[in-house]
Amino acid sequence: MSLGCGGQLTLAIKMRVSPEPASYKELLGLMRRYREALNYSIKVVIENKALSLGKAHILLYKVFKERYGLPSKIAQDCYREAIAIAKSWLNNPSRGNMPRARAPRIWLTNRYSYRVKGGYVELLGGYKLKIIGWDKRYDIYPSGDARLMLKDGKFILAVSKRMPKPAKYVSRGVLAVDVNEKEIVVGNSTIEHRFETAVERALHYKQLAEYLQKKYSSTRYNAWLRRKSIKRRISRFHSKAKNIIEDWAKKVSRLIVLLAKRHQYAVAREDLTNLVNNLRKLPKEHKVGLTILSYRRLEHWIDWQCEKNGVPIIVVEPRGTSTKCPICGSRLIENSYRNLKCPKCGFKADRDTAAVMNIERIALSKMGGPLTAPTTPQMTDVDPNRCGEPVSRLREPSPFRAERRSVFP
Ligand SMILES: [Zn+2]
Repeated sequence: MSLGCGGQLTLAIKMRVSPEPASYKELLGLMRRYREALNYSIKVVIENKALSLGKAHILLYKVFKERYGLPSKIAQDCYREAIAIAKSWLNNPSRGNMPRARAPRIWLTNRYSYRVKGGYVELLGGYKLKIIGWDKRYDIYPSGDARLMLKDGKFILAVSKRMPKPAKYVSRGVLAVDVNEKEIVVGNSTIEHRFETAVERALHYKQLAEYLQKKYSSTRYNAWLRRKSIKRRISRFHSKAKNIIEDWAKKVSRLIVLLAKRHQYAVAREDLTNLVNNLRKLPKEHKVGLTILSYRRLEHWIDWQCEKNGVPIIVVEPRGTSTKCPICGSRLIENSYRNLKCPKCGFKADRDTAAVMNIERIALSKMGGPLTAPTTPQMTDVDPNRCGEPVSRLREPSPFRAERRSVFP
């Protein structure tokens, strides 16, 4: 899924589909040839910077006919997909290895290469696939191009849909999001929720992969006999770790945005670019990599969910959010582990609580001052001596029962 532009959101709807037994082998063969052709084209397109259909066609057409035996319509879809993949890889400043398609697949242009009719998906070439299940909520929106993939023995058709972006409401306050490597802290002057990150869970699988890699990195010849299945197991562990982070980011961002929507708050998140860049300077460890991935995916999915749900989003500069007093603006000093204290007004809080309140304050001033948020309590009216009261917090709570923070009765 990606953010659309011009008032439209693009999302991919996944359908389980099943081919007729008689055409199963033939279809799978086509999808495998497509994958090989796609990987070959990605390489050619990147190496020759052939980022237009015309250029790609000249370079690839002959090889396609001779080597992969793809029908000409499907060959064209293949260049188009290769160009799209090459472009996004070339535009990524921190790109790694050249991208490769792993699962057998095929790209399908809407109306030319596929159509959905009466519980079936019909493909060019006479293939018919029965639709087993899909998310019916998006049926009213027009379908775009689709990708048919084989994953873990199941055929999945991912259809892109375009839906209009809902209008954003006028917010009655701010829900601030603060991140650290262990937790995502969400709140404002009245509520607070904490979500554990998935880094530790994902790290487990990275460590399993590393263990296997070390165990089988002997250069003796007989290791080759096992190499392929070992390689597959290692890559499975890596993708498992990645999937854990992705699922977590999707789930948590949805909970955060729905909580904001329920209270008609705007979501305020920090711009994490500098934080991520600083993390990149650290030694390349799995944990650092997973933390970076978590932050990136969380940013992406929070923004996406805000667009989808019509929730206003404010991005604030993270400077000083965990060092300044949210009440008087003085520099906070360390009180005890992760606890901070203001030497001037006596405000005491956990580092993340202070950050959340600072992000809220900055976001409110960005929105035009606290006047736009009549439900937010006046910070200056709070007796500073009460600020340090211990706050009982829930871990992974139901976001729909917002907990009232005791410091601001
Ligand atoms: Zn203070």
